[in-house]
Amino acid sequence: MHCPFCQNPDTKVIDTRISDDGHSIRRRRECPKCGGRFSTMETAMLLVKKRSGNVEQFDRNKVISGVRKACQGRPIDEESLKHLGQQVEESLRAQGIAQVPSEEIGKAILKPLRELDEVAYLRFASVYQNFEGLEDFQHAIDELRVEDRA
Ligand SMILES: [Zn+2]
Repeated sequence: MHCPFCQNPDTKVIDTRISDDGHSIRRRRECPKCGGRFSTMETAMLLVKKRSGNVEQFDRNKVISGVRKACQGRPIDEESLKHLGQQVEESLRAQGIAQVPSEEIGKAILKPLRELDEVAYLRFASVYQNFEGLEDFQHAIDELRVEDRA
């Protein structure tokens, strides 16, 4: 790790801390040449395994743009979408696996989206779960109703 102040390639770690959520490591470093101090963050890469077998890096923006489509015309602001993206990433990381199957992402979206907006949830679920007709919608709506009462 180069020193950001003097570009010295040799810096030393003076403190290491694990973040509160346990998913990243923060290191405090010092440059022995100029005495400059700075911090670095180390986060495990979250990878997504596609159905094709390809593996790519998890992209929170892809989640948000997928959900945004389902939210068209609904009273949902960008902040809520961003928050949802964060919730999805956190729940995937909490599974503690290095390569998340892409289907898991859809699953991880459904729960926070249902709390955010039921119409957007139904739209998203209809695409993600391949609803084939009114019965599938009815079933999903019944589920929402049951949980509302509970
Ligand atoms: Zn330096």
